[in-house]
Amino acid sequence: MVDYKKIGLVNTRKMFAKAVDGGYAIPAFNFNNMEQMQAIIQASVETKSPVILQVSKGARDYANQTLLRYMAEGAVEYAKELGCAHPEIVLHLDHGDSFETCKSCIDMGFSSVMIDGSSLPYDENVAVTRKVVEYAHQFDVTVEGELGVLAGVEDEVSAAESHYTKPEEVIDFVTKTGVDSLAISIGTSHGAYKFTPEQCTVDPKTGRLVPPPLAFDVLEAIEKKLPGFPIVLHGSSSVPQDEVDIINSNGGSLKAAVGIPEEQLRKAAKSAVCKINIDSDSRLAMTAAIRKHLAEHPDHFDPRQYLKPARESMKKMYIHKIVNVLGSNDKIEN
Ligand SMILES: [Zn+2]
Repeated sequence: MVDYKKIGLVNTRKMFAKAVDGGYAIPAFNFNNMEQMQAIIQASVETKSPVILQVSKGARDYANQTLLRYMAEGAVEYAKELGCAHPEIVLHLDHGDSFETCKSCIDMGFSSVMIDGSSLPYDENVAVTRKVVEYAHQFDVTVEGELGVLAGVEDEVSAAESHYTKPEEVIDFVTKTGVDSLAISIGTSHGAYKFTPEQCTVDPKTGRLVPPPLAFDVLEAIEKKLPGFPIVLHGSSSVPQDEVDIINSNGGSLKAAVGIPEEQLRKAAKSAVCKINIDSDSRLAMTAAIRKHLAEHPDHFDPRQYLKPARESMKKMYIHKIVNVLGSNDKIEN
């Protein structure tokens, strides 16, 4: 049993309370390799932002859960070395699919877990979430639950259709389960193809697809039911079109990739939404930089030659999200 506090990680409780009060959101960035982790930590230290390092099932399968756990421990020390005396870093399990998965992460030092029972019948979602909460809270590990279904594909989480969270269920769910935060579905979606072209309109000036707006009425109804309760948005990458263009003009083929416009995320961050998950934008930034570098330098074969600009590009993106979208900068003392 690893005590996450001993390795310098924190849970989400205080972080979320401050974010809800302060009208900003904490970035939750997925990571599965060293360059991503370096970019996340550099960005959060330079902007003095708390940060959530997220590990998905796909990341655990790809990189190994134990290795990722030790990378997070290394991340704390790395942040200190970069000049942040008191880093606020959460190691969070993204989309835990069972009690056993959550337990194994808690036992190895995760400070926060998500149990995603959103695809189960309501009562079963309540039961499994409650079981995880009872176990996690013994060790002061915080738990995120989910109500409602997001469309899209993320690693092994996928659904063809979204179902908005029902505001009439949230009080019962939170009370029965004891969760510390709640992921909701209000029209965000996993992956780089969040909407079909049929769901979008076309901007006459740019010819770009404009996605349908988020259901802020549902968010407001949930906030009324649970005043001040931490709300989480998944699937909140913006799929920057300049990155998509770089990929496509350097041999890639991403057709009609579309994300959530940043002004909508900015608006959400000012509400009870206090954690915003961003994964695809990091993948796009990395891939665009690598494709561009290799196209310009066909003779290069040292991975450091193309991973260095990829890391820089991800870092720039993370800083942009922290400062210009979530507003979580300057929230910790270095
Ligand atoms: Zn998700």
